[in-house]
Amino acid sequence: MLDLRSDTVTKPSEKMRKAMYEAEVGDDVYGEDPTVNKLEKLAANILGKEDALFVTSGTQGNQIAGLVHCKPGQEVIMEAQAHIFLYEAAALSAFAGVQIKTLEGDNGAMKLGDVEAAIRGDDIHQPETGLICIENTHNKAGGAVIPLENMEKIYQLSKKLGIPVHLDGARLFNASVASGIPVKEFAKYTYSVQFCLSKGLGAPVGSMIAGSSEFISQARKWRKRLGGGLRQVGVLAAPGIIALEENIKHLEQDHENAKQLAEGLQNIEGITIENKVETNIILLDITKSNTTTEHFVNYLKEQNILAGPFGPNIIRFVTNNSITKKDIDNVLVAVQKIVNR
Ligand SMILES: *Cc1c(COP(=O)(O)O)cnc(C)c1O
Repeated sequence: MLDLRSDTVTKPSEKMRKAMYEAEVGDDVYGEDPTVNKLEKLAANILGKEDALFVTSGTQGNQIAGLVHCKPGQEVIMEAQAHIFLYEAAALSAFAGVQIKTLEGDNGAMKLGDVEAAIRGDDIHQPETGLICIENTHNKAGGAVIPLENMEKIYQLSKKLGIPVHLDGARLFNASVASGIPVKEFAKYTYSVQFCLSKGLGAPVGSMIAGSSEFISQARKWRKRLGGGLRQVGVLAAPGIIALEENIKHLEQDHENAKQLAEGLQNIEGITIENKVETNIILLDITKSNTTTEHFVNYLKEQNILAGPFGPNIIRFVTNNSITKKDIDNVLVAVQKIVNR
């Protein structure tokens, strides 16, 4: 099976498995796991933040950030198609007691004027704005890179008003590789950042959150409350270190494969590509192909290819480190067959 449903499907490499076996461990709730400590230091350095924390998932990282930054009864601003809004089971409302205010973005980027207009003031009838969230790359916008200038403008506004900015950077390294801008630069315009080790970077489990020492010390407590204080978790941090030290550069190949796939798909009549394909995500619009996403996905499966439905007429392909150039050719042949049918 060629699995293009997501970049979460990547399996740990032999080197990662070996590192897991050999990892030096201790009790991380006591702060005594040397491998976790090494990973946290490494992540903080790469992001240019004071400190970082290993968390079980991207969702947990985003939730912890919301819990640290917000009080119940506040409002959190984010783009209308944000992962936190669409795919985290309303966790911010359930745990942090906040409501979410969504703004329609342009290719995933919220407009400064819209953010400014959405911020609520000191009115007895209204929730206060407690947090602004940005997502980079933007998943639902097809892996779009949110421009650095957009992040800078929103950050300057937030600083003026004393409202924190959290970056859901599940795929921040894809944004960095595609734009040539170091992750540090993106992170500069945030109070906290979450990124996934378990997506394109290829680790089996985990995400990192980063921010000031004060933010991380509160985050550590929230992680404990959520049941995310783990013990000899160096076995999971070890592949995370390899992900950061060795796998960032491999994202370039994922992006190249995505471009090659997009170019091939563009030449097939009856389907169109919905997004710009800046990173590793392709959104295929099958409206004109006279079939449903369900059938299309099933036809692909019959030909040993997995892809995911991603909206009424959209199929999402995500390249990842298990996909080769030759696999891309096979996907193109399969799609052509389906369209001919
Ligand atoms: C995948 C993803 C997450 C959540 O990560 P999990 O580890 O699956 O919980 C959060 N935000 C974005 C933008 C994502 O793509």
